[in-house]
Amino acid sequence: MKMVNSMRVMTAIHAQRRERLAALLAGREADALLVTGGVNVRYLTGLASSNAAVLVRADATATLATDCRYAETARRVCAGIEVTEERDVAGSLASRAGRVAVEAHHMSAADYFRLGGDLPRTSGLVEAVRRVKDEEEIALIRAACEITDRAFADVVATLRPGVTEREVARGLERRMIELGAEKPAFDSIVASGPNGSIPHHSPSGRPLERGDLVTMDFGALYEGYHADMTRTVAIGEPASWQRELYDLVRAAQRAGRHAVRPGASVHEVDAAARDLIVEAGHGEAFGHGLGHGVGLEIHEVPFLSPAEPESDHEHARLEDRVPVTVEPGVYLPGRGGVRIEDTLVTRDGGPELLTRTTKELLVL
Ligand code: ZN
Ligand code: ZN
Repeated sequence: MKMVNSMRVMTAIHAQRRERLAALLAGREADALLVTGGVNVRYLTGLASSNAAVLVRADATATLATDCRYAETARRVCAGIEVTEERDVAGSLASRAGRVAVEAHHMSAADYFRLGGDLPRTSGLVEAVRRVKDEEEIALIRAACEITDRAFADVVATLRPGVTEREVARGLERRMIELGAEKPAFDSIVASGPNGSIPHHSPSGRPLERGDLVTMDFGALYEGYHADMTRTVAIGEPASWQRELYDLVRAAQRAGRHAVRPGASVHEVDAAARDLIVEAGHGEAFGHGLGHGVGLEIHEVPFLSPAEPESDHEHARLEDRVPVTVEPGVYLPGRGGVRIEDTLVTRDGGPELLTRTTKELLVL
């Protein structure tokens, strides 16, 4: 019975999402959008598959195409949507409305030309709808973050000299799955000692040593939703330069978090953290953006980065209920690095922190 209720709730939520998308189509000289991005199809219909497309018309009616492997699930999950069983999912939908626009960023050039090569192209329409999350989505990201926090607490207790980066990564991943994750949200990063200067270091056979800073960047995937957290810990008492670096990144991360609010521009939030790092003389050592949106994808709009185009007014400011990460880092080649990352969500009264692990420097 509970299942039936939650199915009904989800059906209504998916219908609302298609209505928000249909409203965006109105001004675009298109009668329908042919959605072929797999994550976008899932978002609009509830069907997770490797071969499905959905045509959403300007009147918010929809037709979903998928092949025989998913058709039965689709008929069960996608109430309120016409379902057609076809292997050529895009081709079978392209003629089912007048002027059909395509997702240029999710369609191969081969498919585009096969469909005639003259359909209107869009980019990022469904992604724009996905930016602001409903509470059901936020609850799933919160659950993913809880698993991430608990896995960290369990595994950090096992860190000691001699344990390799790879063992730490596998330990985090194993624990997340035991705690209910589908799988890791992305390839876990464990970077120890000098490897810490590589922001996306792939875990190696290097054993942890006394005097290392160890950066762990990982997260759980739960019901399709991602968590993303980074913590840097010290193996043994840190040197003064290590503690200074940590305190700087921690202060920058706090400033970034405090700048996350509805109405803030993505540049403003980035600058709130970056300015502190630049003032400390480490601007060059913080090469990436401050953070990114999180949801059905690990990296999605909005991007909190100075590189985001100023002219993109539509997306330049944060709204209420946008989950983002705040993850400043300082990377010193040959020496090591520090990154601290949380997943949080914008709220009118101040951001809600979803990853709750302490940001005190843990000395193990
Ligand atoms: Zn991360
Ligand atoms: Zn991240």
